Amino acid sequence: MGAEEFIPDQLTLESLREAASGCRGCDLWEDATQTVFGDGGKHANVMLIGEQPGDREDIEGKPFVGPAGRILDEGLEAAQIARTSVYVTNAVKHFRFTRRGKRRLHEKPNSQQVRACRPWLQAEVETVRPSLLVLLGATAAQSLLGPTFRVTQHRGKVIPTPLGIPAVATVHPSSILRAPDGAAREEAMAAFIADLRSVKRQLG
Ligand code: SF4
Repeated sequence: MGAEEFIPDQLTLESLREAASGCRGCDLWEDATQTVFGDGGKHANVMLIGEQPGDREDIEGKPFVGPAGRILDEGLEAAQIARTSVYVTNAVKHFRFTRRGKRRLHEKPNSQQVRACRPWLQAEVETVRPSLLVLLGATAAQSLLGPTFRVTQHRGKVIPTPLGIPAVATVHPSSILRAPDGAAREEAMAAFIADLRSVKRQLG
């Protein structure tokens, strides 16, 4: 199990996207609609890494185009980071879900699936060579920094990664959508924007 054998010899975003569309590195391709590969500028300065595609992303084939994507857009705008200047992707490239009637409910990818998909993330980082990674939530952070990493303890700070590119960790925008009421949502959004402003400062 693992995506390693599907990684092409020549690393370009086009060749990676093409190869990833046929990945069978774990079982998640079986029920999902398609591989949702990263999207954005070839030489983006910052790479945003989420958990996995959601229902909308699975259908449209692009990352962060659903409700969590709208929160991300709002946060980036408030921090004055142009969405067009970043590369967005996920730690896991297929949608994991459980069916409830007609609905498909998000299910967190397990650690084997995250590990299996990591070669794609690594290849994207090697190809784009951003100057900063933004880890959106625990799955992205733990994919790169190991299972003991806690976003709550390190959010907003610049931390080294084994890929040689520093990162800033923050929450996944979908956690803001799950806030229990308006006040909690506002508070969570303000903290998210503060983390993204720290990203903006790093970029200079
Ligand atoms: S989730 Fe990742 S490793 Fe698993 S099949 Fe999809 S692209 Fe391959």
